[in-house]
Amino acid sequence: MIYILGAGESGLGSALLSKKLGYKFFISDQFKINKKYKNELIANSFDFKENGHNKELLLSSNLVVKSPGIKDSLLLNEVKEKGIEIISEIEYAYRYCKGKIIAVTGTNGKTTTSKLIYEILKSSNIEVSLCGNIGKSFSRVLSIRNYKYWVIEVSSFQLDDIKDFKPFISIILNVSNDHLDRYQFDIKNYLKSKLKITKNQSNSDYFIFWNEDKLIKREINFIKAKIISYGEKSINDIAFISNDEIKININKQKFTMTIHELALQGRHNIYNSMAAGITSKILNINNQIIRDCLSSFDKMEHRLEVVLNVYGVTYINDSKATNVNSAWYAINSMNKPIIWICGGVDKGNDYSDLVPLVKEKVKSIICLGKNNTKIINEFENVVKKIDEAKSMKDAVLLAYQLSSKGDIVLLSPACSSLDLFSNYEHRGREFKSQIRLL
Ligand code: ADP
Repeated sequence: MIYILGAGESGLGSALLSKKLGYKFFISDQFKINKKYKNELIANSFDFKENGHNKELLLSSNLVVKSPGIKDSLLLNEVKEKGIEIISEIEYAYRYCKGKIIAVTGTNGKTTTSKLIYEILKSSNIEVSLCGNIGKSFSRVLSIRNYKYWVIEVSSFQLDDIKDFKPFISIILNVSNDHLDRYQFDIKNYLKSKLKITKNQSNSDYFIFWNEDKLIKREINFIKAKIISYGEKSINDIAFISNDEIKININKQKFTMTIHELALQGRHNIYNSMAAGITSKILNINNQIIRDCLSSFDKMEHRLEVVLNVYGVTYINDSKATNVNSAWYAINSMNKPIIWICGGVDKGNDYSDLVPLVKEKVKSIICLGKNNTKIINEFENVVKKIDEAKSMKDAVLLAYQLSSKGDIVLLSPACSSLDLFSNYEHRGREFKSQIRLL
């Protein structure tokens, strides 16, 4: 019997896959199950429990499939001590997947890069699915169809409990401070978890990484896959930027494109586009298709999304920037004076990296969080004005008052949203609706 821990997207996916495979299973959640998933459990007549687990069934199961949101616990220790195998949902799906996997991880840029790759593959008429940490779970999609190619966005939590998961192409975009509360506040543990994406790869597989990331660079000697890196400078002439042109040269296949043609602007998006371009060249995709996709890609909501121009002031929604590094790239991408709205739940942030950039580009800061002490202490002597707001309405009104023609109001919080909002989408939508009321 399989015990599925967690009844969210991953848990439901695992249940549907188990049903398809004809396995007996039980699914439970420590908390109340989200209505959408509960309805699905009922419609499928699955055995389930909410607001707690069935310990007896759990300890007598043969395999535990764990959702990524579940932390280590005494109960899980008991399961391990009994010798019951615990795996993550992506590992479970992997065991039944026949296609080739392109797995994308990193602290920032996973969704953007996964989508770019997916669009290019789809435009080349490749039978491909986009799933994982984005939208539908790997198991759910697999329960319906065994695709030839899989672009899977994977988080560190999903990688934590893999055993044999082996992508044909793995990508680590970058590693910076985030989620450290789950990693004993040590970035080495977080890095280790990201690197698991390569652990089962052999020399017929590929590993792609951003060669300016000092943390990843130190680890590449241990990787067995063929390594391809990209960045500003040329390393073995493989993938670099020269005179505002992306240049990629893989397996004697060349691809070039000017950065001004890219649909997604900002230095970070050039890197994401390069990772997608390299993946496409490994798969022998035609240059014109890659160029068309990278230049016509739809902008994504909550990621440097230009909302409106109100009396000459541009409002930008980057609510998805939930850590310091993504906010750094947002501020760096702006070329006009910034009123910066930031704050929320701090996941152990170190704001000092932002100080020089804020000094250069930010006019004033509006802190939007329950506890803003850390931000105020770091920046009160860096910017001319720093204010606090307790709601999005107040934050937008303050920004409106503080800004003058030619400024940018940037929501790029560097923190998660859970103190005042239900998630980053809620925060971004609130921002947009308050702007429309101005
Ligand atoms: P993820 O899925 O990893 O959270 P997203 O593509 O959703 O990444 O982007 C999240 C945030 O990070 C956005 O604010 C975006 O502008 C920023 N971002 C995207 N790519 C990068 C990158 N390569 N480096 C730093 N920040 C990035």
